[in-house]
Formats: sequence, structure tokens, C-alpha cells
Amino acid sequence: MSINCPKCQSRSIIKNGHRRGKQNYQCKSCGRQFIESYSEVGYSRKVKEDCLTMYLNGNGFRAIERITKVNHNTVIRWVKQIGNQLADSKEDYEKPEVVQLDELQNL
Ligand SMILES: [Zn+2]
Repeated sequence: MSINCPKCQSRSIIKNGHRRGKQNYQCKSCGRQFIESYSEVGYSRKVKEDCLTMYLNGNGFRAIERITKVNHNTVIRWVKQIGNQLADSKEDYEKPEVVQLDELQNL
């Protein structure tokens, strides 16, 4: 099993119970907690970066899937993860008002 911390890439990972039926892990280096799906077993970081780069360059998820053979749902999840990490790491990052309103309406 090769799991890297999504925050600091450390491999010093301990199991930390379960969350919503999935294995929960905690990084011993930075204390970050994350669930199993955070690390995509079977895809290298290179593949993930390629997919995200293609997305940022304006490719659709289906196009990325066709070229990289990575399921588009996986790519969508990666994009969301990156968005969350950006939100975590940038203190002055502000979500657009529209997004927040949409989230409230979906509650
Ligand atoms: Zn870490």
C-alpha cells in the first residue's frame, strides 16, 4: 500500500479509524486527516498531474478520459480535491458569492 499525505506528501501515514465507512488516515508529519479515496491507488502522481493540467488547459472530462484512460469521475474528484486544498492553503482565498449561495440552496 502506498499512500502519501495529500498535504505534505509524507509517507508516514497511520490508520485513524473509519469515516463514513471508509478507512480514515492521519499523517504523522503534519497531522492532516484524510480518507482512503484521497489517494488513488493505481494512478501515479504524474498521471494525476497530467489530468489536472489538461483540465486547467480547458479539456473536458470526457476528453481527458479518452486520452489518459482515467475514468472521468476520478478526474472530477481530483479537481475537487485540488480546489479544497487551494481553499485550505490560501487564507485569503475567497469563494465567489455565487458558489456560497448555490450551496445554501442545496441544503
Ligand atoms: Zn502530511
